[in-house]
Parts: sequence; C-alpha cells; structure tokens
Amino acid sequence: MALEIIQYPHPTLRHPSRPVKKLDAELRGWVAEMFILMYRHKGVGLAANQVDLPYRLFVVNQTGEQGKGEELVFINPVLSSPKGLEEAEEGCLSLPGLYADVRRPAKITIDAFDLRGRPMHLELDGLFARVVQHETDHLDGRLFIDRLNSLGQLKVKAPLEEFEIQFMQRRREGGIPADEAIRARINELQATRT
Ligand code: ZN
Repeated sequence: MALEIIQYPHPTLRHPSRPVKKLDAELRGWVAEMFILMYRHKGVGLAANQVDLPYRLFVVNQTGEQGKGEELVFINPVLSSPKGLEEAEEGCLSLPGLYADVRRPAKITIDAFDLRGRPMHLELDGLFARVVQHETDHLDGRLFIDRLNSLGQLKVKAPLEEFEIQFMQRRREGGIPADEAIRARINELQATRT
C-alpha cells in the first residue's frame, strides 16, 4: 500500500487516533514513507492520520529538507506544561495553499517514544513547539482551522468550501471510498496495533 496525503474534509482527519502498542517493520516502513511525502510536499511535520493511518504518531523535520536538520518520530505523544501565548501563521499539508494566524502556547513539554520504543522528553519553544502542537491536534482529530478566531474563520470560509467541493467531486469520480469503507479500514488497522 503506497501512502498518500489526504485532504480536508476527508473523515480520517477527524478520527481521534489511538496509542500504538506494537512497533513493527510495516509501521517503520510507513514512517519512512511519511518523511518522503512530507519533504515532497514541503512540510515540516506530518501526522499518521494525514496519510490515512489511525495511529498516534507524527514525524517532524523543522528544516523541511531531506538530509538537513534532524528527523524525529513522536510515538504516543503527550503534551504538558503549556506556557505563554504566541500567534503565528500556520499551514497544513491536508489544506494545501491555506494559511492563517493561530494562537497557541509559546512553550510546551512533550513526552513520547521514538521508533525504537525509547522514551523522549523535550521542552520546546518557537517553531518546534508550534509544530508538535499542530501535529498532536491532528492525532486528536483537530485541524488548525478549528483554532481560528471569528475573523480568521470568516477568511477561510470560501477556501474551505472549495476544498469540500473538490472532495465531493473526487469521491464521485471514485477516487475516495465511502465513509463506511474508510471506517472499516481504520478499524482493521487499529485492531492490529492499538
Ligand atoms: Zn497539518
């Protein structure tokens, strides 16, 4: 199965992902594919449910460039100790071309496991803090458009409708399965690793 980035309003983007209980070769292969997709689409982070996988994990490379910076995999992340507030522009590979200012805690602590199952503990600020909060939101079925103020909501209304029209069109053309088929596949994948 080749992974693909799914776009709003695909239902898996609203699926709250379950913690992973088994790290196997297939999962490691998917993580490698997620990095490739993230670089190809010029992102700095990508969550598993953005490639239609119902697992609580995401990948990050703050530089967004293969061979540069550090590639990090966060499995079963838990955020704590939010401090301050900062507003900055965000985009999302599941909403390509859409950008808006999002207010989030400026500092955050994250606990997670890496791909070998070793625990990680990081205290983050700046872009890195923003990226892990954006990606953890994905795992909870939340998108950055949910966090906009009323003016921001108004600005994204028309572009979101355009995404919805395109999604329905692709579905009519047979490119996207029906909701029931998507749910059945998600349940099957969850049963093997969560
Ligand atoms: Zn995103």
